[in-house]
Amino acid sequence: MRRGNKPGFLLQVVRERINILFQLSEKELKTHPERARRYISLARKLGMKYNVRFPKKLKRRFCKKCGILWIPGYNLQVRLNSRKRMMEYRCECGAVRNLPLNPREDKKVNKF
Ligand SMILES: [Zn+2]
Repeated sequence: MRRGNKPGFLLQVVRERINILFQLSEKELKTHPERARRYISLARKLGMKYNVRFPKKLKRRFCKKCGILWIPGYNLQVRLNSRKRMMEYRCECGAVRNLPLNPREDKKVNKF
């Protein structure tokens, strides 16, 4: 199907499925990590196939390198880097992702 040529209800269903896959992944993470990985990869494939973007909440919930769902304190270390104004997400596989620390507040600070 071409980009931008999809009925709305289809996208709705795809979004719902992605949410369900993330929920399943969270449930299975501690008992069956491989299953949890598979759910994430299925969700990502769905998103790619139907051109559906993940909401910000979900985008920051998994490792792009090893595809595992992140649970802070379990397989994820979150550190604050105040000099860079970044959050440092360190996955158990060793991948590091830097995310901006509340960008809205940063803009306010820049005004002064
Ligand atoms: Zn990882």
